[in-house]
Amino acid sequence: MKKQIMSINFDSVTMDEAVSIAEGCIDSSEKCMVVTPNAEIAYAAEKDANFADLINNAKLVLPDGVGVVLASKILGDPVKGKVAGVEFAENLIKTTKYPVFFFGGKPGVAEMARDNMKAKYPSCNIAGVRDGYFKEKDIPDIINEINVSGAKIVYVCLGAPKQELFIKAHMNEINAYVFAGLGGSLDVFAGTAKRAPDFFVKFGLEWLYRLIKQPSRIKRMSVLPLYIIETIKFKLGGKK
Ligand code: UDP
Repeated sequence: MKKQIMSINFDSVTMDEAVSIAEGCIDSSEKCMVVTPNAEIAYAAEKDANFADLINNAKLVLPDGVGVVLASKILGDPVKGKVAGVEFAENLIKTTKYPVFFFGGKPGVAEMARDNMKAKYPSCNIAGVRDGYFKEKDIPDIINEINVSGAKIVYVCLGAPKQELFIKAHMNEINAYVFAGLGGSLDVFAGTAKRAPDFFVKFGLEWLYRLIKQPSRIKRMSVLPLYIIETIKFKLGGKK
């Protein structure tokens, strides 16, 4: 079920529901774009109607982070909960019977991500990998590589909005069904970025952990309180 949080229609789903909707799309040969906006991306969408449209066109819009969940509570119609993109990505790999392609990250990251996932889930099927640093002229080759791999699921990990734009532009040329924009997830699978320890997750402080590990993110993260302020203004004034 969709729940509107200002400009974005989020899916109010559990993790299991999100995974089974994605799997169901492949079963029924339906093209499915999955996006995972956190507060930073949702705030960008508030300022850019085209980006909001791009997100709202996705089949699955997963609330990635406590900021989005908090915004839904402020607006009085809470989503079921957070469905973090990186956890969705891992759960789908663990459960799906279909081959997955990893596209994105710095050279070597997708290979490491594949090796780590194969070690953790021996029966998973990672059909191919490719780094995310390319030129416009390389795109036909990338599309061909994904098609030749036989993947039915593509993790597009180029950061927002590059990944969403890539998916929208090329999903019909690729013979896969699920296209998920998953930001830095391959870095987490590869171990080049660490997932927050349980303590931080339990208290909704993953953003603080990321900030401690990468203080340079402070500017990007300062939009988190701005997003919440925007939500409160929306609630009070009925407009942005
Ligand atoms: N990236 C890429 N190609 C690019 C720009 C970025 O593959 O042209 C990758 C980058 O290496 C990183 C991911 O995209 O793995 C973006 O990570 P970030 O932490 O910014 O994403 P977030 O999860 O915060 O959206």
